[in-house]
Amino acid sequence: MHVDVITIFPRMFDSVLGSSILKRAVEKGKLSVKVHNLRDYAEGRHQNTDDTPYGGGAGMVMKVEPVVKCLKAVEKKKKGYKILLTPAGKTFDQKTAKKLSGKKNIILVCGHYEGFDRRVEDYIDEEISIGDYVLTGGEIPAMLIIDAVSRLLPGVLGNAESIKYESFMEELLDYPHYTRPADFKGKKVPAVLLSGNHAAIAAWRKEEALKLTKKNRPDLLVRTEKKTRTAVRRTGS
Ligand code: SAM
Repeated sequence: MHVDVITIFPRMFDSVLGSSILKRAVEKGKLSVKVHNLRDYAEGRHQNTDDTPYGGGAGMVMKVEPVVKCLKAVEKKKKGYKILLTPAGKTFDQKTAKKLSGKKNIILVCGHYEGFDRRVEDYIDEEISIGDYVLTGGEIPAMLIIDAVSRLLPGVLGNAESIKYESFMEELLDYPHYTRPADFKGKKVPAVLLSGNHAAIAAWRKEEALKLTKKNRPDLLVRTEKKTRTAVRRTGS
């Protein structure tokens, strides 16, 4: 997968792309990321990417022309699925991560200040929010999306099995994990995990995942129940 990022703070990506699994994904050729400085596409001596809002009010608004110019330059080399990071977008989740992992090229556009002039919407394919809170800029959301999407790409994780039972893959949270020591200050690892009985371990994990989901994220189960009910109604069975 290739990702183009458009930002006024390109250096912010160095550390995240230069560490851990993302670094390895780049080294293995599974992922390439090119970060573009939006200022390079701004006009005038000061290369301003923002201006005061029409209608008055606090804050600055990011201008539409530099974004359009930058997108045009980026897409001259590689067309991509264009995503605007904004709190007003659809909330990012594992399903969206899976959908995006099927795309060859994506372009992430990061805002700042009050966000972009609304007219950028004509030039993008989707608006994405990473959650119901407001960050200073779109760079952290862009990094979050790159991370969540690239770990789903074949060959990025050392063991493909590790994503199979991860939280949200089956609309359940992950099952609890344990490692050595088997006894930590009297708190023992569940005996079934030491039993060597794989069927019993699998059943225990499924049950624990369900318990944890009920406790921490009952909304996930309600969603699954609703989907099942709709499917049953559709098939008439
Ligand atoms: N005035 C905007 C609002 O109230 O919706 C907030 C703008 S925010 C301070 C500046 C930029 O940060 C946004 O243009 C966007 O790129 C990014 N941003 C902030 N929170 C975000 C979120 N939850 N999801 C995605 N992007 C976000």
